[in-house]
Amino acid sequence: MAKQKKEWDVGIDLGTTYSCVAVWLEEHSRVEIIHNDQGNRITPSCVAFTENQRLIGDAAKNQAAINPTNTLFDVKRLIGRRYSDPIIQDDLKLWPFKVNADSDEKPMMIVSYKGQEKKISAEEISSMVLTKMRDIAEANLKSEVKNVVVTVPAYFNDSQRQATKDAGTIAGLNVMRIINEPTAAALAYCLDKRANCVGERNILIFDFGGGTFDVSLLTIKGDVFEVKATAGDTHLGGEDMDNRMVKYFVKEIKRKQKVDISGNPRALRRLRTACERAKRTLSSAVDTTIEIDALSGSIDFCSSITRARFEELNLDLFQRCMETVERCLVDSKMDKSDVDDVVLVGGSSRIPKVQQLLQDYFKGKELCTSINPDEVVAYGAALQAALLTKGNKFVPNLVLLDVTPLSLGILLKGDLMDVVIPRNTTIPVVKKKGYVRIEDFQSAVSIQVYEGERTRASDNNLLGFFHLYGNPNAPRGHPLTVSFSIDADGILTVIAEEESSGSKNWITVTNDKGKLSTQEIMRMIQEAEKYKAEDQKYEKKVMAINALDDFVYKIRNAIDDVDNPQKKTKINKAIAETEKLLDAREQTETEVFVDHLHRMKSLIESIMKIKF
Ligand code: ADP
Ligand code: MG
Repeated sequence: MAKQKKEWDVGIDLGTTYSCVAVWLEEHSRVEIIHNDQGNRITPSCVAFTENQRLIGDAAKNQAAINPTNTLFDVKRLIGRRYSDPIIQDDLKLWPFKVNADSDEKPMMIVSYKGQEKKISAEEISSMVLTKMRDIAEANLKSEVKNVVVTVPAYFNDSQRQATKDAGTIAGLNVMRIINEPTAAALAYCLDKRANCVGERNILIFDFGGGTFDVSLLTIKGDVFEVKATAGDTHLGGEDMDNRMVKYFVKEIKRKQKVDISGNPRALRRLRTACERAKRTLSSAVDTTIEIDALSGSIDFCSSITRARFEELNLDLFQRCMETVERCLVDSKMDKSDVDDVVLVGGSSRIPKVQQLLQDYFKGKELCTSINPDEVVAYGAALQAALLTKGNKFVPNLVLLDVTPLSLGILLKGDLMDVVIPRNTTIPVVKKKGYVRIEDFQSAVSIQVYEGERTRASDNNLLGFFHLYGNPNAPRGHPLTVSFSIDADGILTVIAEEESSGSKNWITVTNDKGKLSTQEIMRMIQEAEKYKAEDQKYEKKVMAINALDDFVYKIRNAIDDVDNPQKKTKINKAIAETEKLLDAREQTETEVFVDHLHRMKSLIESIMKIKF
């Protein structure tokens, strides 16, 4: 890979379960998926806190079973949501870590870090995952990475997109654009198969991941991509299947071994890890075994599961996927026969039963699997990053159009939702609508902004409200204008104006939905730097301990060559002292190890007359 110092712009797929980073290599005219320090092309979106340090990615996931309450995963489910959200309340029952609500109803994770209780928001955890992905890219590209494109599920609402952007800011990144995951996948696919993309093609993206499910219908005409419709399920993914399998085995253990492990977080976590592995195996084998030593007390667990049983446990989930596909087609006013390509994205799209149901639905159509489903979203994000910074040089005239996932509107008298921007409108977009005052002589008109598809405003989601202070003498029926604008990241601004009095007021994202204030973001940026400093400090200490430990090891091996008993005693005494110091590593500062190694070296040099 390129060694020269240059600026790189990367694409990051910030997944619920796994994240992936990719870069466009101009000199090779291709996208490269960047592997992490473990050699893996995808990195678990997992952060753990221990007595000594903070871990991110594979290191965090690998120790999850022994540190379940301080290992945070699935955090993308929390981002931009309220604590009381039913989705979160459901998740809480399964998570081994603690989540509380702060005074603003914002969910905060509670962990123990260096012996102290710490409250952390979803934005901060996501920023740590983003930092890790940036570090992975910087280590490989041997240069600084600042500009990124980050992907989100198509169903993410305004505050979830904003919170994702905030996470990037906390990580010190410039988030150039937030794009929908299926849109990124389509972009990757079309570039890969440009020869096929002549004339007009309709592509259905089926993205079945760890925690979310998205279907999108895109039309590609020449070089223009248009998302016609999106449908999705924020709570449907591979983890639901893992949970089903966990429940199934918990029952079996209760029946066969007479032990209930449902209140044992460590056992549940180990069982879940084994179930996820078994599930992956069942995508290629028809049965598999699960073995966990000392799962609970002295009980060793050993059992097996067939693919047929796995399918039976999850059939309703798979059928829900197909219903979502149907909904997407209805929304786009298309028939299934109009779909030219069906593209598989996300790890769970590898499940044979899912592929079979999808293929049957499309009357035996061959599914597109040529793009690696775990990487295709990051691939597309990298292309988008290159498009934004390098222009259309490398992909002539490529334009990307996205749509709004939910209808947006305001409250009218009688709890009515008046839609200003209908669902699936192409963005960026600005729409103006005229309204009238409903009462005489109001000092302020209240504007309430909602998202959702229901007729009654109160059945939809309140995004926020503000007041327009216009002419206090205006009678009922006096006109005012409300304009909604959505930028390319899907972020909404609502402006209300009264022409007669020249008054104007607006909101961008509401505070009451958990959006972070600038002050909070600043605090989190400072904390992120503190974490970084702590991580570096810890690494330095570990290196100093290891160097001392290595040195003692070498001396211990060389001591047999020393004939003089007095010298031997001196060396043994020095070794014993060092071992005592190494045993007290928690309480000892890095410098003490460094100084001790220096002293040891000169002492041994003088005794053994050798130079280190
Ligand atoms: P996300 O984008 O939601 O983070 P991914 O697209 O990376 O998710 O998919 C992760 C999910 O895919 C996990 O639940 C994982 O268990 C599942 N998965 C990965 N490989 C397979 C496989 N071979 N068979 C079945 N499920 C798989
Ligand atoms: Mg994904």
